[in-house]
Amino acid sequence: MPGLRPYGALGAPLPLVSGAPGMIVDRCNPFGHSTGRGGDRGPRHLAGGLYSPAYEGDKKWFCPNRADGRYRMRCECGHVGQEMHLCYPHVAMISRRMSRICPPCVMPPEALDLHERITAAQARVAALMQAGANYEAVRAAASRADDLGQAMTELVTRGIAHRCQLTLTEVS
Ligand SMILES: [Zn+2]
Ligand SMILES: [Zn+2]
Ligand SMILES: [Zn+2]
Repeated sequence: MPGLRPYGALGAPLPLVSGAPGMIVDRCNPFGHSTGRGGDRGPRHLAGGLYSPAYEGDKKWFCPNRADGRYRMRCECGHVGQEMHLCYPHVAMISRRMSRICPPCVMPPEALDLHERITAAQARVAALMQAGANYEAVRAAASRADDLGQAMTELVTRGIAHRCQLTLTEVS
């Protein structure tokens, strides 16, 4: 029957009447509200600037709609983001407005590793200079840092570190 979907681990159908007392329904949660420790930090990280302060009523930043489906951000390389429960208007809004780049694609493990080594190499150069090390030692350390920088450029040139568009896709 259209409109009915399994809900929860028991597979009970989602109630058709929204807001029935004592009923837990999947609410649209476009902002990824967390209710755990540390509390809700609000929607700024996702929908910053989209809502005026007037939107903050009793419902705070929660969308009053029931979720129409579960969605995830997905990049072309198969990285997936956190699951979001969304209503169709928010699906449309987020698809239209969001053009985000996949963080693991921009900074894959190789690049992260390299980044750390570059930082360490640069710190070593600075430490040597501060300690008044001789020219040869400083130059050797500096050239090591340069080599690592070259390796990072190569990661980008070879497309290992790249910019991948995230798109919103429904979770089946
Ligand atoms: Zn990618
Ligand atoms: Zn919504
Ligand atoms: Zn990716």
